[in-house]
Amino acid sequence: MTHGPFSCEGGCACGAVRYRVTSKPMIVHACHCLNCQRQTGSVHAINALIETDRVILLSGEIEEFLADTPSGRGQRIALCASCKVALWSNYLLNNLGEHLRFLRVGTLDDPSLTPPDVHIFTASRLPWHVLPDETPSVEAYYDLKATWSQDSLQRLKALRQRMGVRHK
Ligand SMILES: [Zn+2]
Ligand SMILES: [Zn+2]
Repeated sequence: MTHGPFSCEGGCACGAVRYRVTSKPMIVHACHCLNCQRQTGSVHAINALIETDRVILLSGEIEEFLADTPSGRGQRIALCASCKVALWSNYLLNNLGEHLRFLRVGTLDDPSLTPPDVHIFTASRLPWHVLPDETPSVEAYYDLKATWSQDSLQRLKALRQRMGVRHK
């Protein structure tokens, strides 16, 4: 992570959409599920989880696409209206879903700023894709409290309180 205040920008392939991220993410997932493989055409998606209001659209027009998820509830994927590159998505699990954004790390100008903290759904990992030893990986999903930093758990709690989503 960078020192001092974190701020970075990103955008789509044609350059119409530009956005700014105003803080570091809460956690970064490398997701190996088959949906992410299909959507990215690659071995996994890299999703930075961050409060929706910390991703500011600077220019361009966003188009939305509703995609399937393993939960069956779907996710809303934001694409550049011109080049159709996916920039982020919101999972429609509950009220929180609207306010928790999954930013596609590959669309940052410097994707190396936010390396994956955890590899998830590795049960469907492509067999020839070798995972790094130093990063935790799980076959499906992980235990939130054991995986997220204290700081990020506090941010999630604050987000839930702001949105009125109750803890289970
Ligand atoms: Zn574009
Ligand atoms: Zn996935």
